[in-house]
Amino acid sequence: MADRRDMKVAVLSGKGGTGKTIVSVNLAAVAGTSVYIDCDVEEPNGHLFFKPVISSVEEVAVKIPVIDAAKCNGCRRCVDFCKFNALALIKNRPRVFAKMCHSCGGCMLLCPQKAISEQERTIGVIQRGTAGNVTVCTGELNIGEATGIPIIKRLLQLGAADVRCPVFIDCPPGSACTVMESIKDADYCLLVVEPTLFGIHNFRMVYELVRLFNKRCGVILNKCPAGGNPAEDFCVEHGITILSRIPFDHELGALSSEAKTAVWESERYRRQFALIYETLIQEVCHEAVAYS
Ligand code: SF4
Ligand code: SF4
Repeated sequence: MADRRDMKVAVLSGKGGTGKTIVSVNLAAVAGTSVYIDCDVEEPNGHLFFKPVISSVEEVAVKIPVIDAAKCNGCRRCVDFCKFNALALIKNRPRVFAKMCHSCGGCMLLCPQKAISEQERTIGVIQRGTAGNVTVCTGELNIGEATGIPIIKRLLQLGAADVRCPVFIDCPPGSACTVMESIKDADYCLLVVEPTLFGIHNFRMVYELVRLFNKRCGVILNKCPAGGNPAEDFCVEHGITILSRIPFDHELGALSSEAKTAVWESERYRRQFALIYETLIQEVCHEAVAYS
């Protein structure tokens, strides 16, 4: 059972625009001392709400192969081995397509001529800073890079190194391998769902993913309409725990569009998200708290 002082909650959504970042940011802000990790490395935006004072910046690099033409005999074993098509034999010599390389190191190991070495290539950057009591860790993948997984791995290491406090992981949208990496060590997956057919379709995929990973999970129904909600019907039908219902709310949308953290702007939202945080702790840690 997780302890609320160091519980890790991954916040996911099947698609972009459901309100996943609004939920992650406001839960981290209302939790007091906490860590917010933005794993949406292709489009990180949580820092826009927090506006953290940056204390460190770190480049993230991967290793890619370099071929020594003087040693290579063109046997093409490396080309046949690479499952990512990052190597091609051109004029009897392998050529490396660096942006397709997944840095597995296999080609270097199997080259009979020892013609392959590795060099580092920067793929992005991590910024760490603070906003009030929240430690904000943001990863940003350089444009055109194949995968943000090395940045996500490093982000999660940085988050785990902090003092004991709740960690909120703002995952990439969808259900791709970057999402899998983001939820791997989470104690709980919080799925944010909007009441549209597209939203429910993608929610089903991400729900299947968290089940495959054997993660405990619950749902926040966001942008709830006044009448029936097909997202709620789906949850009820499948026995999925609903932690909260956030009504469709122009004011919350307006605050977010101005990159304002709602719980720091309005007592109403502070109470609303404090209640969600309380429910979350009860669900994740089976611990009753009185948070006001
Ligand atoms: S395995 Fe080594 S020797 Fe063979 S083509 Fe690749 S780099 Fe050249
Ligand atoms: S390191 Fe792995 S992914 Fe990269 S070129 Fe070599 S075999 Fe392919």
